Amino acid sequence: MTAPSKVKLNPGDTIGILGGGQLGRMLALAAARLGLKCHVYSPDPDSPAFDVVQRATCAEYADVAALELFAADVDVVTYEFENVPSGTAMILAARRPVLPDPAVLQITQDRLAEKDFVRKLGIGTADYADVTSLEGLKQAVLKIGLPAVLKTRRFGYDGKGQVLIRASNGLKEIWDELGTHAAILEAFVPFEREISVVAARGFDGHVECYDVTENEHRDHILKFSHVPANIPDELAAQARDITRRIADAFDYTGVLAVEMFVQNGTELLVNEIAPRVHNSGHWTLDGASVSQFEQHIRAIAGWPLAPQQRHGAVTMTNLIGSDIEGYADWLAKPGATVHLYGKGPAREGRKMGHVTEVRPAEKPAKTPV
Ligand code: AMP
Repeated sequence: MTAPSKVKLNPGDTIGILGGGQLGRMLALAAARLGLKCHVYSPDPDSPAFDVVQRATCAEYADVAALELFAADVDVVTYEFENVPSGTAMILAARRPVLPDPAVLQITQDRLAEKDFVRKLGIGTADYADVTSLEGLKQAVLKIGLPAVLKTRRFGYDGKGQVLIRASNGLKEIWDELGTHAAILEAFVPFEREISVVAARGFDGHVECYDVTENEHRDHILKFSHVPANIPDELAAQARDITRRIADAFDYTGVLAVEMFVQNGTELLVNEIAPRVHNSGHWTLDGASVSQFEQHIRAIAGWPLAPQQRHGAVTMTNLIGSDIEGYADWLAKPGATVHLYGKGPAREGRKMGHVTEVRPAEKPAKTPV
């Protein structure tokens, strides 16, 4: 017998979260505010989400006995990162509702499947080609042109597992270095801006989109998010429409983020879909009437979503690696709200916390349509 795909929760019920990073931590804090309990499952004993919940399982994702005990203790399962092994999701889905549906993971874990999915909806992406061998890479370079970005199909994040190819000599070294036979080559997009839309979709298919966020990366890692994005209203409406169409096509439940490039002022190309709460939505914790974390909890609980109301123009700054050493300066800065994740060593590139700064609007911020 399989578990029902959705169950409406009552206050006091328990949400199981796969993954124990900062996203899981902020989800658990949002759930607590709504009178819901969380049980975090993570293989990492230093998981920052463990600090904020009473119920935690530290076990491997392939540990069937631990997964069964976890499932028995929770009313619904969700996740805070997209690389949950499909076997883990299947074991849990046989016992409890898993939201968003694990079928979404199968698509978003694979850059090729994800791009095919987006293109089938008639939504633009960079041109791309499937690459499985050095010979295939040479053909793909001829087809796509240079510069181009070679990416592993799976397990890439924050620029890991990708390399910019500028010239067609040295392809063998690049291919050997990538170390996989499952890759895609994407045309390099000379984008003007990177934007993202974070949206929530409820049991009934109702979608609430946040305002479009403009994202600045340093060394491939998100450094700043600014809201609203500096783009025309019409383009922002298109970005939200793209996100809504993707959420509908997945029959999605929960929060997702769609990252896009803006090219030639008017063209939107989808780069990536994150089937979870997203770093570019952290501004909502202090800059909106309801945070992305609370929206996700509401959505998977079958509760009404809140229409977002933004409190003004917002900048979110990530504290990465040694940036954390400046936390006292941030704490002293008027108008800054500091979030620290309680992580151990501040390794280079590690997200240690973030700060939001809200500049209240003189008039109420516009609610997007
Ligand atoms: P990704 O892991 O696909 O999100 O890529 C990380 C970052 O690399 C993006 O946020 C972009 O800044 C850059 N990038 C990825 N793909 C492309 C592309 N096709 N053209 C230009 N820049 C890209």
